[in-house]
Amino acid sequence: MRPLVLSSKYVVHTFGCQMNAHDSDRMGEVLQASGWVRATSAEEADLIVFNTCSVREKAEQKLRSEVGKLAPLKSQKPDLVLAVAGCVAQQEGEALLRQIRTLDIVIGPDNIADLPALVADQQHGGLPQAHTVFDLDSPRFLAAMPEPGRVPVSAWVTTMKGCDERCSFCIVPYTRGPERYRPSEQIVSEIERWVDAGAREVTLLGQTVDSYRDDALNSNPASNDPDESQFPALLRLIATRVPRLARLRYTSPHPRHATQALADAHAELDVLARHIHMPVQSGSDRILKRMIRRYTSAEYIKRVRRLASARHDITLSTDIIVGFPGETEADFEATLQIVRDMGFVGVFGFKYSQRPHTPALKLPDDVPEEVKSERLARLFELSESQTRAHLASLVGTRQRVLLEGKSKTTEKLSGRTERNEIVHVEVPGGVSAAGLIVDVEITRAFKHSLEGQLDSASVEFIAREALARTLAGSSRSTRTSDSPSPTPQPMTHEPPDRRRRNLPLVQ
Ligand code: SAM
Repeated sequence: MRPLVLSSKYVVHTFGCQMNAHDSDRMGEVLQASGWVRATSAEEADLIVFNTCSVREKAEQKLRSEVGKLAPLKSQKPDLVLAVAGCVAQQEGEALLRQIRTLDIVIGPDNIADLPALVADQQHGGLPQAHTVFDLDSPRFLAAMPEPGRVPVSAWVTTMKGCDERCSFCIVPYTRGPERYRPSEQIVSEIERWVDAGAREVTLLGQTVDSYRDDALNSNPASNDPDESQFPALLRLIATRVPRLARLRYTSPHPRHATQALADAHAELDVLARHIHMPVQSGSDRILKRMIRRYTSAEYIKRVRRLASARHDITLSTDIIVGFPGETEADFEATLQIVRDMGFVGVFGFKYSQRPHTPALKLPDDVPEEVKSERLARLFELSESQTRAHLASLVGTRQRVLLEGKSKTTEKLSGRTERNEIVHVEVPGGVSAAGLIVDVEITRAFKHSLEGQLDSASVEFIAREALARTLAGSSRSTRTSDSPSPTPQPMTHEPPDRRRRNLPLVQ
């Protein structure tokens, strides 16, 4: 029997999308609630969890190589518990225990709450085990527990799990199960908790976040229209019940639910960010049909333009797969065309990869690898040129920037505009200003970000806030105030291109 270690230490490594990062946070919380503490390195950890993504083959391969690297550590330290969680765990189940002999636990995304008990079992000499059961009858949504001192300016709140779409390329319905929605009251309470703890911005998270339903919401979706959901009603509920929330975003929506009601919500709710990430996947109707996306390119354009015109200056970004089975040069040209037509300012492009269980497996993966690479390069060349033009158009404008933290590359602070452009700015007081919304004069555009300067009113505002925080005896207390807009007109020059760039929310 292994000795039970008091104050055991854990590390969670995350691969893949924001959904996985969110799940990793919940794993940390359930472990801490059971007395575990975070380790600073793999060497001092008693438990190492790999939280995995299998949406594309590359992430899955990365997992296998990372777990393989730990084999020497595991043989030096046999009590070390190694676990794989997330989509690969769900997809492979027990087979993973046979394939990776050093593994002790395989745990599915719906079973995170059971992690401490499974690890305790291992520490008591239990056999390796796989626990990958979908909670279909009574779905569990683990409540986030904001940790004092580690509250991000921008928090993620899950609203649903699973996916009922059956896009032919996508493994998500098989690894995350069917759609289950979190009750709206739980969502609102969690957002309130984040805001009370100091977060200013929330991104609602779901595989098809805009298909949301909750019978408790008294606004019923237009009865017979399967595309109409209660997502707009959820947005309104959040805006009404959490007025101190500064910004609200959501990802990842499906174009099917980009209805008039959602456009109305964008038009009405100031809290909604002026940016929408809306995966299109392809611009070719023939390929969209093979992908089982359930819209044509013309329908996509109509619905998404309606959303984008709900408010001045909304920017759009998207996901695109290149090299889907049967994609011809003409199909790919149609994709480039929709990128131009929609003026996307951010594109997440992926080479198609075959995924287990998916309907597209029946189609031959017939676009050669070098053609996929070449198309991806052309896609990025186009999207980057649109991004550059958009960022350049912002030089000389004034932007409201939510300061988030120290920039990775400079001594400045980084923040985001109401859309999603990253702005680096020198701030007196540095990180203590994180969470404040300030006016920034944009002075320079880089490839993926902007640089700017605070105006004098914002400098004074930050100084006042710093003083208030010192008096309140807290380094980052409640961030409920925004800087006053010193000049009534927000921009010094109106940029020519209204479809602004955006930066990644997912992946
Ligand atoms: N809700 C999104 C939608 O409407 O499709 C799905 C989000 S998915 C988790 C993230 C992105 O991964 C997809 O939008 C798609 O572009 C990409 N993706 C999914 N399956 C893929 C595959 N088999 N090969 C390449 N890319 C894939």
